[in-house]
Amino acid sequence: MKKRALVWFRLDLRLSDNPALDAAAESGYETIPVFIWAPEEEGDWPPGAASRWWLHQSLQSLDTELKRRGSRLILRRGPSLNALRRLIRETGAQAVFWNRRYEPALCTRDAVVQKTLSSDGLRVKTCNSALLFDPEEIRNKSGAPFRVFTPFWKACLASAGPDFFRNPPPVAWKRDLPESIPLDSFNLEPKIDWAGGLRKSWQPGESGALKLLRRFTHSTIDTYAEKRDFPAASGTSRLSPHLHFGEISPHRIRAACIREERKASGDFLRQLGWREFAHHLLYHFPDTPNAPLRPQFKRFPWRRDRKGLKRWQQGRTGFPIVDAGMRELWTDGWMHNRVRMIAGSFLVKNLMVSWTEGARWFWDTLLDADLANNTLGWQWVAGCGADAAPYFRIFNPALQAARFDPEESYIRNWIHELKTSKYPRPVVDHRAARQRALEALASINM
Ligand SMILES: Cc1cc2nc3c(=O)[nH]c(=O)nc-3n(C[C@H](O)[C@H](O)[C@H](O)COP(=O)(O)OP(=O)(O)OC[C@H]3O[C@@H](n4cnc5c(N)ncnc54)[C@H](O)[C@@H]3O)c2cc1C
Repeated sequence: MKKRALVWFRLDLRLSDNPALDAAAESGYETIPVFIWAPEEEGDWPPGAASRWWLHQSLQSLDTELKRRGSRLILRRGPSLNALRRLIRETGAQAVFWNRRYEPALCTRDAVVQKTLSSDGLRVKTCNSALLFDPEEIRNKSGAPFRVFTPFWKACLASAGPDFFRNPPPVAWKRDLPESIPLDSFNLEPKIDWAGGLRKSWQPGESGALKLLRRFTHSTIDTYAEKRDFPAASGTSRLSPHLHFGEISPHRIRAACIREERKASGDFLRQLGWREFAHHLLYHFPDTPNAPLRPQFKRFPWRRDRKGLKRWQQGRTGFPIVDAGMRELWTDGWMHNRVRMIAGSFLVKNLMVSWTEGARWFWDTLLDADLANNTLGWQWVAGCGADAAPYFRIFNPALQAARFDPEESYIRNWIHELKTSKYPRPVVDHRAARQRALEALASINM
């Protein structure tokens, strides 16, 4: 009888350049693909509403691709360890392969699963599919993790080989597979359908990701350096949700950039570098999703401002660039990076509401909600993280809008009532709010 292995899919919902799948194939196993829904194992950060919507579509798409290859995705409910052990009994699998995740709660869970299955006598192999550089690989000269981006990225580039991407070996899919539970039983899709905007703008799944990558590397990348900060320009790749769900690998993106030899490849790869840095920080400083990396900020006098927070969430602050971004987020499940910085800064500096409130809202509404990138982004905005914007640098939303949306095309696209009396008056006075924020900063001796 042929030996067989479970390949446990997690945030690696693709069939090409999937190291766990390739490793199982290379070792000569027949492969049984499985996904386990276990949000309670994700600690304080189970997937939010927008992520759940994407996950539903992505699992469906992976199953369709597997069916084309004569297999199908086996879905099970957690606890993960129990589900895996049960599947091992049902299939007689001798090995389990998976790609690593870096969120603290999942690192802990995976260590237990690995230890238990190994002591059950199984072969367990884990791989890196999500990052160009595993967080364990990159250290500074004294062996410590990096806290500043530029030297981190330099060290990464110095260790990067020229030829990351290779063609996967053929996978032997096991036929006659055990039962799967229906995808609908995970209840990932909303009960009241608010996902119309998402369906119009996105195509979750591996083929949607590859299409976007092709479009980006064949044209958009040429103007990436000039246009990436202008939200009306569609100047970025929009690959973030695909990258988060592992529908495309950063290796493939890097290989495509190198192959196409476009002039902006370096600028674009540097942004992927920020993603690497975010994972490096999350892995080495696992408390950061809930606590500032710079401890002085634990004393910062954040305000409780339910009304202000609500108006920010609804895109009704009376600051057009902020409101446009928040409405883009609500409708499309995505927001341009420049606007994330402006809207985030507005919440933490103009309203002085804690960055953790902003991170929570983004977590629920972003399709690309990612614990590493979201934590880095919010701590950067709040000035309390690694290599962060200094707290005293307070964005003026009007000046930011004049610079990055000079024709107001982005703003008008999202705020139809802009020039009418229906548009709300500013929720704060920018100059007074700036002064208040600077005084709060002085109070923690920064
Ligand atoms: C407050 C705040 C919160 C954020 N939350 C998230 C989040 O939850 N998930 C997320 O993926 N990104 C987050 N970002 C980073 C960034 O805004 C998005 O990755 C980017 O807008 C995605 O658009 P794109 O794919 O077109 O990016 P591109 O410019 O095309 O960049 C390519 C890829 O590089 C990565 N990347 C780009 N910029 C950054 C960055 N600053 N930090 C980390 N990775 C980056 C992303 O994976 C992105 O898909 C956040 C930024 C801020 C300021």
